[in-house]
Amino acid sequence: MSDCIFCKIIAGEIPCKKIYEDGEMLAFHDIRPQAPVHFLLIPKKHIKSVMDMEPEDTPLVGRLVNKAQELAKELGCGEKGARFVINAKSDGGQTVDHLHIHILGGRMLSWPPG
Ligand code: 5GP
Ligand code: ZN
Repeated sequence: MSDCIFCKIIAGEIPCKKIYEDGEMLAFHDIRPQAPVHFLLIPKKHIKSVMDMEPEDTPLVGRLVNKAQELAKELGCGEKGARFVINAKSDGGQTVDHLHIHILGGRMLSWPPG
């Protein structure tokens, strides 16, 4: 999508601190980190949100979750864990309308969210 920030990052039009990339996904550090480890993992396919996923997207999202786990471990969260967050639409706090998983770790996170 031409006006989507994350599609522009995928296209290389906006720079990012890349962690991982393959043919169908990209991981990069969040520009405003909320924890010592805070990165985003996105599909290259423009899916607006988890609320807009189609059944055909299920295997792709499964692979995203698997890669999120692998990268969280690589970034040092294997022992103490991390939080895997998908905000969806306005009440969910989604500000970028391209499906993304936040991976936050490196400190104890509070619950519930405010
Ligand atoms: P959301 O609120 O939609 O769940 O999360 C969007 C996230 O994208 C926010 O944590 C925000 O800091 C991050 N973000 C927004 N624009 C950019 C950008 O241009 N580059 C990077 N690396 N992160 C961004
Ligand atoms: Zn997009």
